[in-house]
Amino acid sequence: MNSWIDLRSDTVTRPTREMREAMMNAEVGDDVYMEDPTINHLQERAAEIFEREAALFVPTGTMGNQIAVKIHSQSGSEVILEESGHIFNYEMATMSSFSGALGRPIRGEDGVITWDQIKKHVRPNIYYVAPTSLITLENTHNMAGGTIYPQAEAENICDHAHEARLPVHLDGARIFNASVATGKSVADLTRKFDSIMFCLSKGLGAPVGSLLVGSRAFIEKARVYRKALGGGMRQVGVLGAAGLIALEKHPPKLSVDHAHAKRLATALATLPGIKINPAKVQTNILVFDISATGLDTPEFSKRLKERGVLANGIDATHMRMVTHYDVSRDDIEKTIQIAGSLLTQRTPA
Ligand SMILES: *Cc1c(COP(=O)(O)O)cnc(C)c1O
Repeated sequence: MNSWIDLRSDTVTRPTREMREAMMNAEVGDDVYMEDPTINHLQERAAEIFEREAALFVPTGTMGNQIAVKIHSQSGSEVILEESGHIFNYEMATMSSFSGALGRPIRGEDGVITWDQIKKHVRPNIYYVAPTSLITLENTHNMAGGTIYPQAEAENICDHAHEARLPVHLDGARIFNASVATGKSVADLTRKFDSIMFCLSKGLGAPVGSLLVGSRAFIEKARVYRKALGGGMRQVGVLGAAGLIALEKHPPKLSVDHAHAKRLATALATLPGIKINPAKVQTNILVFDISATGLDTPEFSKRLKERGVLANGIDATHMRMVTHYDVSRDDIEKTIQIAGSLLTQRTPA
C-alpha cells in the first residue's frame, strides 16, 4: 500500500520510473557466460568508482559478505567482528555452515571496535588454539544507528591487521551514506580494506543487488563461490540496468535522507519518554530508547501502525526508523505529529 509512511528500512524503496524504463530497455546476455553487457558495465563502473581492479554483482549483500568470509577464512578458524553487526547476527550463521568459521564477537561503542580491542582477541600462532583468519567491520553500522566508522581507526585496524597478515573485509552495505555524510569518496573510505561489499538495494534504491569489490584474483574466486551458492544468474542485466542508475545517480540524494533523519531525531528527542541523542544521528538510521514511555516496542509499533506509520523494534526497548527516498519531508513531519500524539493521548495498556 502506498499510503503507509514506511520507516522499517531503506530496503523498501521501489524502483523509480527511470529505473523501470532502463530495465525494460536493458541490453542483456547470459551472465554465467559473462556475456551480459549491462552487468559487465555495472561491474566495471563499480570497480572504477572504488578504484579497484574488479567487482562482481551478487543478488544480496548477505551472499556477498559470506563469499568474502569464505575466501578470506579457513574452516576451523575465527573471524573477529563487532557483536551487533550484520554478518554475525543477520546472516543465518552462514559463516559457520558455509565457511566452518567461528565468529569472535567484540562489543563496540556505537558499533565501532578499535585495534586496541581487536588485538587482544587475535589468537597467537600456537597449534592448540584456533587461528584468527579475518577481521570484518561495518560502515555505516546498521544496528548502532547508522554510525560512521572513524576513518583513522578503520585505517589503523587495516594497517595493524596487515602487519599481522590478517585480511580485513568491509560490510559497506551503506558505505555511500558514509561517503555523502563525510564528503570522502567511497574509494578513499575503503582503500585499505582487502574486500568490500556494498548494497544497491538500500538507500540507493535499486530493487535487487549488491556488489563485491576487490582485486581481480579475489573477484575470480568470488565468481566461483557465487555459482556454488546458486547465485549465477542469466539475463541479469535487467537488474543491472536499475543498479547502474542507483550507482551513478542516487548517491547525492542520500543527503536528503540524512537531513530527514536529523529532523526526526531532533523532534523525537523532545517527546516524553523517548531517549535519543540527535548528535549521534549521522546518516539515515535512528535507534531510540522508548523504555521510559511505559510501552514496549511491539505495542509502540502497533500504535504507530494504527496511525499509518510503519517502524519496528530491534529489541524490547529500542525502536529503529530508517529514512529513504520514498519518505518525503511531509511524511517526516506527519511521523513527528503521530509519535507526539500517541505518547500524549495514551490509552492505558
Ligand atoms: C542489508 C545489509 C546487508 C545485506 O543484506 P541483504 O538483505 O542480504 O542484501 C549486509 N550488511 C548490512 C549492515 C546491512 O544493513
